[in-house]
Amino acid sequence: MNLLNLLKLFWLRASWNYHRFLYRILLEESEWKARIRRNWKNLNRNLVTLEEELRLKRTRSLPYSLIIDTTTKCNLRCITCFREFLDFNLNEVPDMNREVLEDLVECFFPTAASLNMSLIGEPLASPHLDYLIEAMKRHDVKLGFTTNGTLLHKLDIGARIAPILGSIEFSIDSLDSDRFETIRSGAKFRQVVANFDLMARFRNESGPNPFRLGISTTILSSNLDEFCHLIEFVADHGGNFIRACIGVVYREEDVHLSVLNKAEDYNRMYIEAHGIAQKRGVELSMPAPFLADHDQDRIEKGRCQFLYNTLRISHEGIHTVCLHGEPPAQNEYVRGRPFRIWNHRDVVKIRKNYDKPSGHASCRNCYIVNRGLNTISNRRKQFLPYLNNE
Ligand code: SF4
Repeated sequence: MNLLNLLKLFWLRASWNYHRFLYRILLEESEWKARIRRNWKNLNRNLVTLEEELRLKRTRSLPYSLIIDTTTKCNLRCITCFREFLDFNLNEVPDMNREVLEDLVECFFPTAASLNMSLIGEPLASPHLDYLIEAMKRHDVKLGFTTNGTLLHKLDIGARIAPILGSIEFSIDSLDSDRFETIRSGAKFRQVVANFDLMARFRNESGPNPFRLGISTTILSSNLDEFCHLIEFVADHGGNFIRACIGVVYREEDVHLSVLNKAEDYNRMYIEAHGIAQKRGVELSMPAPFLADHDQDRIEKGRCQFLYNTLRISHEGIHTVCLHGEPPAQNEYVRGRPFRIWNHRDVVKIRKNYDKPSGHASCRNCYIVNRGLNTISNRRKQFLPYLNNE
């Protein structure tokens, strides 16, 4: 570490501690306390960046992006969802305990910038929604999440979350209502589109820095031909981004649903989609084209966001280090002690080794962090997981 970085680190850590001290001694909420919190958040973000750049094993910063699975419930039964292939019903599993959630809010919200309320359930079905809206307002934390889009008109949820929204992403895979309702079983296409339009209106009224509004599409063999129309839909309905992912097929009998059967069509569509997105001013993110097996996969290790900036806590109150199907570490959250999990010895070890041959097996072959792995055989391993058990 050079002298300049050392000085910067020293100054940032000292300022971080000073702001934490001021924040803690001011018991009542006030304009002064709000200003200290804003500065502390900025300092925290700068410190995260520097500590990550220096690859420090132990941090003095806290994550600024939070994923907290506050609910396990979902009101739909989408045919491609992993929930359908579990041997238990997630809707019968208890949601996150309120006391644990309150503790997480106290420990992590003052320095955090954003929260995703659930990855395994529908975030808007969370029983903690009202509490979290109030806590996010109080701590100036932005809400960002993916939703099935079916609940926003109920109880004015859309209007209530609009002021704290950073980003909202609707799961829409088709503009054909029959096809949509077959994939998203339990949803009504017209209602979801009406809710998208509702959020577009709030976005229009939300001033100079509007929240992001877009859709995420799970690409299957059956809806590949629609992807470019979905980009047009986003532009026509007041959104600004679209994200595509390749659908995972969990059973051999459903393999006909996989886009792996239409790799060449996907590659053609990839080029067309980028042209349309550029013309319509829609931000597009989608997996790179398929490579033939005789092509060389150029695998590059990217950075892992889960080691410095993003914290994920499961509904059971477990720090589940990342979104990998077999995460390299899982540790129970200790109330009131955020650094206990953030600098847990398992996490320290992953920070040190995640991109080295000595790293955990999940990190070495990580499909989240490794760029490349785009050949048809590599994608078969990733998107047809049942093959790995054969
Ligand atoms: S498995 Fe991947 S995402 Fe998870 S910690 Fe390792 S490198 Fe990061």
